[in-house]
Amino acid sequence: MISHDILVVGGGLAGLAAALNSNPELDIAVVSKVHPLRSHSVAAQGGINAALGNNPEARDDGWEKHAFDTIKGSDYLADQKVAELMCQKAVTTIYELEYLGVPFSRFPGGVIAQRPFGGAGFPRTCYAADRTGLVILHTLFEQSVKNKVRFYNEWLVTRLVVRNGKCVGVVVYDETTGQIMPIEARAVIFATGGYGRVYLKTTNAYINHGSGIGIAYRAGVPLQDMEFVQFHPTSLYPNNILITEGARGEGGYLINSKGRRFMEDYAPLAMELAPRDIVARAIQTEIDKGNGFENEYVHLDLRRLGAAKIKKRLPGIREICIDFAGIDPIESPLPIQPAQHYSMGGIDVNVKCSSVVDGFFAAGECACVSIHGANRLGGNSLLDTVVFGKIAGEEASNYVRGSKRQDSGEKILLEEALKEKKRIDEWGKKDSGVKVHLLLNTLKTVMSESVGMFRDKKALQEALEKIRELKEDYKRVYISGKCLRFCQELINIFEFESMLDLAEVIAFGALRREETRGSHYRLDFKERNDRDWLKHTLVTWKEDKPQVSYEKVDVSKYEPKVRKY
Ligand SMILES: Cc1cc2nc3c(=O)[nH]c(=O)nc-3n(C[C@H](O)[C@H](O)[C@H](O)COP(=O)(O)OP(=O)(O)OC[C@H]3O[C@@H](n4cnc5c(N)ncnc54)[C@H](O)[C@@H]3O)c2cc1C
Repeated sequence: MISHDILVVGGGLAGLAAALNSNPELDIAVVSKVHPLRSHSVAAQGGINAALGNNPEARDDGWEKHAFDTIKGSDYLADQKVAELMCQKAVTTIYELEYLGVPFSRFPGGVIAQRPFGGAGFPRTCYAADRTGLVILHTLFEQSVKNKVRFYNEWLVTRLVVRNGKCVGVVVYDETTGQIMPIEARAVIFATGGYGRVYLKTTNAYINHGSGIGIAYRAGVPLQDMEFVQFHPTSLYPNNILITEGARGEGGYLINSKGRRFMEDYAPLAMELAPRDIVARAIQTEIDKGNGFENEYVHLDLRRLGAAKIKKRLPGIREICIDFAGIDPIESPLPIQPAQHYSMGGIDVNVKCSSVVDGFFAAGECACVSIHGANRLGGNSLLDTVVFGKIAGEEASNYVRGSKRQDSGEKILLEEALKEKKRIDEWGKKDSGVKVHLLLNTLKTVMSESVGMFRDKKALQEALEKIRELKEDYKRVYISGKCLRFCQELINIFEFESMLDLAEVIAFGALRREETRGSHYRLDFKERNDRDWLKHTLVTWKEDKPQVSYEKVDVSKYEPKVRKY
């Protein structure tokens, strides 16, 4: 049986940061369902935050101000000490990345360039033009290869195996051979990314199904604050490719069909650079009021930046707009609309990235530490992946040093792998039933229509009913082909199980949270309610259904105030 000291699941930024920072004397491996360089982190555009103070307008910046902006941006749901820790570590993190070889853009004189981003008091987003995720991911991958990290690519983890409160390993489907296999590990780190594809309109890659979060949930690990789903204000209409916040950071304006910079009505001070929840709702409100174009989009106008700046700072965005919309932002405004973008909630872990299960850790977008609370600031996710990926690697290494292998681990893993094989046999035996892709489309529609940016009790209840019907339909799915190598239908069946659970947990938490906070906007409860709802939602899978509990938020530093921008 394959066995490692530390098994990292996920080859994106959080996973590679974890692998690189695990103790090199240990035996470390990364499993990823796609080649690591195809992980979604590669698509990150605008940048990564740190209070370096390099921008002439940011001489008075400091990590405390970064932390305050993060906490205020989170609508005071972030745990304040954890947010502080991340912002404190941000500055050295950027220099470490630079040292490893990340080619950041530079200001004249050679210091790392920084641009303004939404909800930030100072321009503190470091970037590499509009390809920041790509350059960091390539650098960390090169370093991992140099450090001889073992990679298992195109292997999908389908189960996390836990016995007596301790993690013993995982079960994987090797896409290249069609085989099911157990992997034993003394510590497992999930860095499996977000679940954007649970929604119809999303900026996320096709691979972002959130299966890691669902697998952890079914293994008994609670999920935290899942009702908080970020919708990015500016995705290109109609295919929802992201237009980075950096485009507004560089000076882009949002304009409605009346020719007005409508952000004046919603965030008169910050305008286009208010936090994402506020800008996304403003855009959708304009469209719903009839102030959009074709009832679908408003304009993001970059023309005032001029050709030279667009070509230098936003070359990838220009390419995307020309290739996918036939529009050159140097000459014409861009049609944009909000789309699902990021998951603030995730696998419940503490500041050491460790969970309720011994030896099981999580970091990056799949985890909730919790820093982003009810609304993440742009540029803080890349930071989160690198800072907490590193912590996860270090803490998993400490854990492995002080723990023993579970004696019966191999036997348990073989049994779990057998169960998985039996499931596949069952799906393969049937020659009729339900095609999983049809269920997938229905789920996405339900989530977009009823658990989207604007929510209310009736719609959320209906969504939950529909999700539960889909769970019944799921029992009748089958595999129509016989070859199990690169079997997309099988991958979809495995991942859809998680998507159903995540959808249920999101809708379930959203229905219970009778207030508006950050990205969670209730039409029937339009105000934030700190008295009853300044708390984290925890949902645990017990007796085949979600059970909810609540946990205190750390507000030890800043007293929650009404957010104004
Ligand atoms: C278009 C776009 C642009 C963005 N730009 C920025 C930005 O400029 N700044 C910023 O701060 N944030 C940005 N974000 C957010 C940020 O990019 C992501 O949150 C972050 O990259 C997630 O990294 P991760 O390592 O957690 O996950 P990912 O990069 O998504 O990696 C997940 C990994 O897990 C693997 N995996 C998943 N499930 C399984 C499974 N079951 N078995 C095996 N492997 C599995 C995948 O193969 C992949 O390797 C952007 C997001 C989008 C959508």
